[in-house]
Amino acid sequence: MRVLVTGGAGYIGSHTVLALLEAGREVGREVAHADGQKTGQTERQAAEPHEITIVDSFVNSSPAVLARLAELSGCEIKFHEFDLTDYQKTLELFQAEPFDAVIHFAGLKAVGESVEKPDLYYHNNIASALSVINAMLKTGVNKLVFSSSATVYGEHTPVPYKEDSGYHLEATNPYGQTKVIIERILNDAANANPGWKVALLRYFNPVGAHESGHIGEDPLGIPNNLMPYVAQVATGRREQLTVHGDDYDTKDGTGERDYLHVSDLAQGHVKALDHLEHQQEPARAYNLGTGQATSVLEMVEAFRRASGQAIPFTVGPRRAGDLATAYADPTRAATELGWRAEKTVDEMCADTWRWQSQNPKGYTP
Ligand code: NAD
Ligand code: UDP
Repeated sequence: MRVLVTGGAGYIGSHTVLALLEAGREVGREVAHADGQKTGQTERQAAEPHEITIVDSFVNSSPAVLARLAELSGCEIKFHEFDLTDYQKTLELFQAEPFDAVIHFAGLKAVGESVEKPDLYYHNNIASALSVINAMLKTGVNKLVFSSSATVYGEHTPVPYKEDSGYHLEATNPYGQTKVIIERILNDAANANPGWKVALLRYFNPVGAHESGHIGEDPLGIPNNLMPYVAQVATGRREQLTVHGDDYDTKDGTGERDYLHVSDLAQGHVKALDHLEHQQEPARAYNLGTGQATSVLEMVEAFRRASGQAIPFTVGPRRAGDLATAYADPTRAATELGWRAEKTVDEMCADTWRWQSQNPKGYTP
């Protein structure tokens, strides 16, 4: 398939680009016995390798990612630098390149910043989604995979979150609201346009890095999220972690989340894309998580084991807006997409550490 990957220079997009190219390469790969003797069987059924085009404005990523993707994949990846809120440029690209499908990652994602600058978040995230949708309508592209988030479940939905249980459209911050709104727009667009197929992928907490250690998460400034913060404490770039509250009603009093390896998440996009043409509903939501809840202290201990470094921490007050526990019921993705998260928390920590220790300043030389 010819796939447009918006935001493909970002954390999840870059890992997904590799997974898509890898999925193409696996086609017809011969299965060998343990001694290296060929069995004459092939691993997968024939499928077309994917051709990838990335659009990114680098508002939250580095051009250095592109060279690493080319090196890791050995493939040519087309790239265009522009802001997707510019509808004319978006349309021109769709008219110049005949895409079969779009994976739409591009968006701003910092919860705290979205509270301070809601106008920026509503404009960037919704205008760029509308540009893509309108360009698809204009050029007859009808398959889309969208990066949604577990944040759409709001604060009253019981755990584990199920796709249809208590979706109250009540995200607690402007970032989350943009996901709720874009999900609604996509539902309406898919229902109004026969032949449209949309997968709304609700990610839980993506962490980890590609096993090569060459691409990973590279947040600008002080990380907001637990894993990149812990990783920077382990390298000595930050002095200590502040645990945001230890008086929750959880196994050890600290917040619990459903962490999943970014490479598993990337694989979820490959499966969702493959499944789109078989999807019954015009638009369908899928949770991508492990179904396991890990506490902050468990994560700190796992990272200490993986890195061999001390992770000094202090306990501070709860962070405003935080939930005690959030984790997925991932049954739908397993039964309908044939996807399951496979990597353990220890693997997530080991891969993050490989990336962080080999690239202590991320993509900055
Ligand atoms: P990221 O910031 O690393 O990647 C997003 C990419 O989109 C960046 O490269 C950025 O430069 C680009 N971008 C943003 N606005 C753009 C625009 N208007 N035009 C062109 N490019 C633009 O973030 P990520 O962690 O890879 O997340 C990808 C998507 O997944 C986002 O939509 C995010 O909201 C969603 N998501 C992320 C998480 C998470 O924890 N990382 C969880 C749930 C959902
Ligand atoms: N957390 C923490 N210290 C930090 C960052 C996060 O204790 O510096 C906690 C946070 O309160 C939550 C968990 O780690 O319980 C995961 O937070 P993150 O921001 O990574 O994900 P989210 O809360 O958005 O799911």
